[in-house]
Amino acid sequence: MKLLEDKIKNEGTVLPGNVLKVDNFLNHQVDTDLMDKIGQEFASKFGDSKVTKVVTVESSGIAPAMMTAVHLHVPLIFARKHKSLTLTDNLYTASVYSYTKQVSNDISIDKRFLNPEDKILIIDDFLANGQAVSGLLEIAKLAKVQVVGVGIVIEKSFQKGHEIIKKSGIRLESLARIASLDNGKVTFVRE
Ligand code: 5GP
Repeated sequence: MKLLEDKIKNEGTVLPGNVLKVDNFLNHQVDTDLMDKIGQEFASKFGDSKVTKVVTVESSGIAPAMMTAVHLHVPLIFARKHKSLTLTDNLYTASVYSYTKQVSNDISIDKRFLNPEDKILIIDDFLANGQAVSGLLEIAKLAKVQVVGVGIVIEKSFQKGHEIIKKSGIRLESLARIASLDNGKVTFVRE
């Protein structure tokens, strides 16, 4: 997606440890026009898949997942990272190691919101080592729902996540694919 690649080139910064900082349009302040176009793009890619729910993990996945759900006219579910008083014990839970925070978190979705007849589309802001997506796939398995695909805003193709999802046979659509962040420079994958 050209618009997204331009935005990454012009406004992204590369931090040590192969981390791309995009908090001025995706992870903290959100560019709502861009997010709307991202939602439109995912909705057109997965428009024929009969998606019944869009699923992501709080918090950075919510903006792109929300706009995708708006364009598909289906509910959005975000897995929660912290147990809250309003979350009951009736949960599907998976453990996820965070690439940027370097800690493990449980992520949970209330059992009431996933039913075996659901066809879910998983959306996330980044794909690095695939831990967040794997956690959601584990929850999907526990809930016996069908996963029609995974949509990623920014894929760091040089890390393990891409291979892990491809090997599982699940459709993967990434809007920007980064080949390298070496020497502080963003290089995109060119097919
Ligand atoms: P994974 O679980 O695939 O290893 O990492 C995905 C999660 O880690 C994303 O949801 C995102 O929040 C975070 N993440 C991974 N790499 C980056 C990065 O380079 N920049 C930012 N801002 N977040 C990242």
